[in-house]
Amino acid sequence: MNIAIVGAGWAGLAAASHCMRHGASVTLFDAAQAPGGRARGVHDERLGELDNGQHILIGAYSQTLATMAHDLGQDAIKAQFLRLPLAIRSANGAFDLHARRGLGQTLGNALGLWLARGLSLTDKWQATRLLQRLGSRRNQPVMGQTVNQWLKEQAQTNNNLRWLWWPLCIATLNTAPAQACAVLFANVLRDSLASAQAGATDLLIPRQNLTQLWPASVASRAHTRWGKPIRELTITAEFVELENERFDACILALPPVNLKRLTQHFSQAQTLNDQLDGFSYRSITTCYVALSERIEMPSPMLLFDHQEKPDAPAQWVFNRDAFMHTPGAAQLAFVISDSQSLTLNDQALVDAVMRQLADAMGCQTMPKVTGWRCFDEKRATFAALPGLARPSNQTIWPRVMVAGDWTDTGYPSVIEGAVRSGLTAAQALLRQMPHLTAQAR
Ligand SMILES: Cc1cc2nc3c(=O)[nH]c(=O)nc-3n(C[C@H](O)[C@H](O)[C@H](O)COP(=O)(O)OP(=O)(O)OC[C@H]3O[C@@H](n4cnc5c(N)ncnc54)[C@H](O)[C@@H]3O)c2cc1C
Repeated sequence: MNIAIVGAGWAGLAAASHCMRHGASVTLFDAAQAPGGRARGVHDERLGELDNGQHILIGAYSQTLATMAHDLGQDAIKAQFLRLPLAIRSANGAFDLHARRGLGQTLGNALGLWLARGLSLTDKWQATRLLQRLGSRRNQPVMGQTVNQWLKEQAQTNNNLRWLWWPLCIATLNTAPAQACAVLFANVLRDSLASAQAGATDLLIPRQNLTQLWPASVASRAHTRWGKPIRELTITAEFVELENERFDACILALPPVNLKRLTQHFSQAQTLNDQLDGFSYRSITTCYVALSERIEMPSPMLLFDHQEKPDAPAQWVFNRDAFMHTPGAAQLAFVISDSQSLTLNDQALVDAVMRQLADAMGCQTMPKVTGWRCFDEKRATFAALPGLARPSNQTIWPRVMVAGDWTDTGYPSVIEGAVRSGLTAAQALLRQMPHLTAQAR
């Protein structure tokens, strides 16, 4: 079977990996010059190997890690990530929660929570109660509820909002708790903090650029057409044609706006097109900063206290020397999620985040900034709003599937959602066309 996959982001690549594993011939098309999409490596002349934004995975990303392990081998996976037990530490030292090693997921996390600095006994009890009830599916949010409404209903304290739920909601949904969908947030918590699965809350920080992490390996096994934005799509009962190339079937692994440009001319696809129009987006800005000398940080990533300084831009800072195989120099990455209201230019932003770090760590002087690069991804994620209608992978055409983190995965806009979507689309396509799969073998 000859399959075209349009979009070489993590969804398209997961689909490609699955289809190739089952004997199909895959051609990958992407408008960009390299694979990875919104999670891709970028080479910077002065700062070296960067990404379009600092990413982090967690142990609960079961499909992503299984697919990577299948393609690269378990040992390669171990070498690719710095894997740490859950740790949330604030840069100002007021909060410190870290799971205890060697006690298993549930006990290690529970002990971490009960020994956490910055939470009272009431805070800990309420957080434990929420997670326990979530794990046993006794306090599911209702459709249409925001994260804030749900947390209020769950009697969560101000401290828990400050140190746990606000940072985790912004980090995973890239949408403020006052607007974010409680069902999606609960899904994320259920599969991580409330899960008994070993290692589910482990933090996995990539040690090399995101394209080299896995996308490049999948792409190297497929036929590829880089720098090739698809603008024409013909669908018949026997084949699919993309820019005059003919295929048995295709998977359109594009973001909603790009997909809509391809499907808007098909009047039969009205329902899909209406759903694609329903998405809005949130941005993420990442500032990579090179310093004249290293900074000692107690953890590879530190949280900024948003209640103490609500106007300071960054939520997290990463010490890249602690995990990158080849850090450019003493290098930090500041992450500003949900960043569409930022008005600072890049230079002012770098000054602001460096000041934020100095204030939080109580440093009078900081090493000199020797270089920086900021990425502002305007459509980093879809806005995770309550009641959003997300399409499934199937379309009205048996030979065409759609994929992407925005499809109906039950996850927010994250790598695991993208990979699950790509795998589901590929499985459905191969199931739907068994005669073609048999020919390919
Ligand atoms: C700055 C930033 C930080 C993030 N942090 C995290 C994180 O820490 N953890 C996490 O899990 N997730 C994170 N995410 C989200 C994660 O990156 C995405 O969920 C995931 O990469 C989406 O993959 P995708 O394949 O669905 O879409 P995309 O990566 O958007 O892939 C779509 C592809 O289609 C291509 N394309 C578009 N139009 C056309 C066309 N007409 N023809 C051909 N090709 C086309 C694009 O070039 C792109 O490569 C972050 C995202 C950003 C931007």
